[in-house]
This record gives sequence, structure tokens and C-alpha cells, in this order.
Amino acid sequence: MSAAAAFRAMFRCFHGCLGEYPLDQILYTCPQCGGLLEVYHDLEPLRRVSAATWKEMFAHRMARGPHPFFSGVWCHKEWVLPAVDEANIVSLGEGRNPLVPAPQLAQRYGVEQLWVKLCGNSTTGSFKDLGMTVLVSQVNQMRANGTPIRAVACASTGDTSAALAAYCAAAGIPAVVLLPENKISAAQLLQPLAHGALTLALQTDFDGCMAVVKELTRRPDIYLANSMNSLRIEGQKTIAFEICEQMGWQVPDWVAVPGGNLGNVSAVGKGFEMLHALGLIDRLPRLLCAQAERANPLYESYRSGFQTFQPKTAQPTLASAIQIGNPVSVHKAIRTLKRFNGVVEQASEDELAHAMALADRAGLFVCPHTGVALAAVEKLARRGEIRADETVVVISTAHGLKFTETKQRYHHRQLDGVTPHLANQPISIPASVDAVLQAVEERIEKSK
Ligand SMILES: *Cc1c(COP(=O)(O)O)cnc(C)c1O
Ligand SMILES: [Zn+2]
Repeated sequence: MSAAAAFRAMFRCFHGCLGEYPLDQILYTCPQCGGLLEVYHDLEPLRRVSAATWKEMFAHRMARGPHPFFSGVWCHKEWVLPAVDEANIVSLGEGRNPLVPAPQLAQRYGVEQLWVKLCGNSTTGSFKDLGMTVLVSQVNQMRANGTPIRAVACASTGDTSAALAAYCAAAGIPAVVLLPENKISAAQLLQPLAHGALTLALQTDFDGCMAVVKELTRRPDIYLANSMNSLRIEGQKTIAFEICEQMGWQVPDWVAVPGGNLGNVSAVGKGFEMLHALGLIDRLPRLLCAQAERANPLYESYRSGFQTFQPKTAQPTLASAIQIGNPVSVHKAIRTLKRFNGVVEQASEDELAHAMALADRAGLFVCPHTGVALAAVEKLARRGEIRADETVVVISTAHGLKFTETKQRYHHRQLDGVTPHLANQPISIPASVDAVLQAVEERIEKSK
């Protein structure tokens, strides 16, 4: 795209204070009101390219690349981070996540079409790669231009830290991750260790880690990688672009996403709004944000018509990546949900575990958070809020292989408060054909 220099993006205050700040300034909150920033794209130059040309160009890059445009994030570079030099982009092939039909679940829930967007099929096994490639590329560019950033730091429930560690390792930038001790999975703890990040287990919960990292990154040489840094949202919003591309530019009726710190529900909304504003789609979906009942401050706010919002102490939940009681991006989420006629629903431990097991039975291998979203879809469908003729896309946020302990405990019937209807166990038998055949006879029906 020859006119690349014309595309402009900058930070602006989310709450509407005047002022624009360049993306290479170290700034996470509005200097005037202290609220969150958002990346604002000047839509005029983007509008000078027709919707049809954009669609063609995205498809061409998706098919042909070359690196880094082969990435599901960077094939949309002009819409994401127009001013980053190609040479500074740190890509691990993120995005390009399958959108697969789940007809067995659709039938069970009573909806016409249910699709699952497998965002956990990625380098670090969660959708956090989408935002992290953007943030680390921007940091890489700032360091190349002489900004003295010594390290990039985040607080995490396990997936942000894995993504930060991987992208920093790829770029050769030191990473510092703050994790709540004993509250993340073994795989999630191993990931930053393997990537060589300075990995600190804090004796607190996620909200406690978040408070520390906010203080820490007041120093100009330690850059903040949490999603309160709105650069992350720019990558996450490409989920909406991919969904529409994969559906032949049709828009689903509903998009469901599990919510914890609540950056992602607003990111998905932002992606759809941008597509709509630039004429690539002609309507918007409704959004469903799904929370674990044990970490549900947004759900409670929704029940009050978003009149009030009360942070709370999140209780332990199998959906550990969304065990957050004081979500940083709550105001962004509420604004997005209002614009998208959104709904917030919650799922108990029993409901999320059952939904997860059911999805696995349908050939997926989903994480507990995706279980929360699926359980929420089921609830809305059963009470008719999602109609039988509607199309639903569920964003599957992480790969089930990151959460094998949870699945193991489910199948070993060791989860408190969960009735494991679908538990399945290995059967120990002698090493003989007879013994195998006997097991088949006993457990698998004859074909008709
Ligand atoms: C981060 C994360 C979420 C929630 O995203 P938020 O922006 O924090 O609401 C959901 N599922 C998984 C697996 C995650 O890592
Ligand atoms: Zn402001």
C-alpha cells in the first residue's frame, strides 16, 4: 500500500478529554483525567480505499504473505498499527485461527448455527498472542529509535505472561512477569520460565499483582504490557476481522467471549465497529460477555442495568484466567456492551465444567473459560434470548492443553461442586486381543 504514511493512529482519552498522544510515547492513562486511553485511528485516509479493495488486500496477504503480513494481525497492519516499520514487527504467525462448526453443541443448545473460533491454536496457546505481537512490536520500534526501555512487565493470570515472554524472547527484549503464586496452571508457569523471563510468584491474587505492576511501571524504563495499555486491544480486535472474513463477510447474530479483566469484550466490539464504519459489514452482532459466577463483578453490574459497578474479591474458580475481581477495563466493556445491545451471563463451576466436557465430547478440546462462554450461550438459548434461528460464534480463548490438571481432576471425579457426567477413565486390562475384544463388546454398541 503506497500511501502507508497517510494512515494515522494515536492515543486519545477514552473518556473524551481533548488531546492526542503519539503511540511511541510511554503513556498508559490520560494525563488529564487519569482514565484509560484508547488507540484512535483517523478513518479519513482509510476511507479513501474502498471496502472491496481492503477485502481483497486482506485476503491476498492471508493467502500469500509474505512474512509478517501472513499473520492474522499484520495482514490488517494499516488498521492496527500503521506506523510500525516492517523490520520492527515481532510476529510468531499469530491469528489465522480456525472457525469451526459445532453442530452437536448447536443442536443441544437449540440454536441454528454455533461456531467456535479456536483462538487457542497459537504459539503460546491463548488469544493473548494477538495483542502481544502489537505491543512488543511497538516496544521493539521504540527501542530501535533509542527509547531506553530496559524491560517489559505484566501482571497475569497465566496467559498474558506466556505471550509476553514468548514475544520478548523472539525480539531479544527482557520480560518481567508477576504471577499470583499457586493460582495458574503448570503449563502456564512453565512457559515464561522456558522463554527466559524473570518470573516472579507473588503471594497475592491477580488483582494484587496488577496493583504492584502499575506502581512498578511508573518508572520510564519498565514498560507496561497489561491490557490497560491500549496497544494490546489493537491486536485483539482482529478477532472480529477474522470472523467476518471466515464467514464470507456475513455477520453472526451473536459473539460470545469470556470476560475477566474485560479488555477483550471491548476489543471485539472495536473490531466490529471499525469494519462497520469503513463499510466492510452492514450490521453489528450482539455481544455476550460470560463470567465465572465466582468472579462476576460485571455480571452484578449488568443486573443493576450498569447503574453501579462494585469491584469484589474474586473467589477461586476453574476458570483461573478470568479470576479477577477488579477489572481494569470495566468502563470500556460497559460502553461496548451498551452499544452492542450486549448481555452479561455467568456460569457456576458445575456449569462451566460440564460445558467444557461436552465440547470435548464434540471433538474440541477447550479451556475452562471457553466452558464459561459455552455455558452462557446455553443459558441464553434456553430462555429464548438467543433465538433458535440465530448464528452464534463463541470465542475459544485458550487451548485445553494448558489446563490438563483441571480436565484430569474432572475425569478423576475430584472436582468439588462438580458432577462429572462425562468422566471417562482408562481401563486396565491384560495385553491380549481377547481382553480388548471383551472390552469392545461390553462398551461399544454393534453397528446396525
Ligand atoms: C485473558 C483471558 C480471558 C479474558 O480476557 P479479558 O480481556 O481479561 O476479559 C479469557 N480467557 C482466557 C483463556 C484468557 O487468557
Ligand atoms: Zn481523560
